[in-house]
Amino acid sequence: MKKIDLHSHVGNFGSWAGIKSDIDSIIKNMDTYEIEKTVLCSANQNTNEDTNDAFKKYPDRIFPIVYVNPLEGRKCTDILKEYIENFGFKGIKLNPLKNAFVADEEAVDPVMELAEMYDIPVFMHSGHPPYSLPWSIALLAERHPKVRLVMIHMGHGHGVYIDAALKMARRYDNIYLEMSGMPMGSKIKEAYDTVGRNRIMFGIDTPFHHPTVEMQKVITSGLDEKGIEDVFYNNAKEFLRI
Ligand SMILES: [Zn+2]
Repeated sequence: MKKIDLHSHVGNFGSWAGIKSDIDSIIKNMDTYEIEKTVLCSANQNTNEDTNDAFKKYPDRIFPIVYVNPLEGRKCTDILKEYIENFGFKGIKLNPLKNAFVADEEAVDPVMELAEMYDIPVFMHSGHPPYSLPWSIALLAERHPKVRLVMIHMGHGHGVYIDAALKMARRYDNIYLEMSGMPMGSKIKEAYDTVGRNRIMFGIDTPFHHPTVEMQKVITSGLDEKGIEDVFYNNAKEFLRI
């Protein structure tokens, strides 16, 4: 079955993670597991050129998004504009946990305003207190109703946060969910049935997870064939407008 990976990284994480990925092995995995396209970002806000190099090498396989830190102010918006306007990037990655800002902090507003202006989606890491909890992400979504905001990991490893991700997505229709790193297959079906069949999407989060592990969660979620196809492929295709 064809797939689109809504979230992966290229580059070296080092530090506590001790992992890295290169674009050739990502493409090899994509070929092996029928992944047509990958939404790709770098390991952090200082290495966007890694994504750009990957995009230049495989322009048909990569949907490049720019990783920025809103706390950097003018530098953040300059990088964002440069990658969108000059290099053809099509989305924005934010990680409140890594850069230590609360998801709904005012510093994020200029980024959201640019996302609205360019009409591109924002992908935000979720699931770690105190910065990236679903309720804070929802407050940001509420303030920027025209921006399509993906809650990456849909609450991540904690059941209460996963439940909150679903509740917040039911409340705000500009919130979308991506399931990498989230352990409960049943919540994928619950999101499909109660949030909306077009608002839950498949992702891997390379190099943190292997494609087969993330694929199994969708396959065993309880969704029927059509549902699995929507989560793996159709929803992302429509969402990314590709
Ligand atoms: Zn990630």
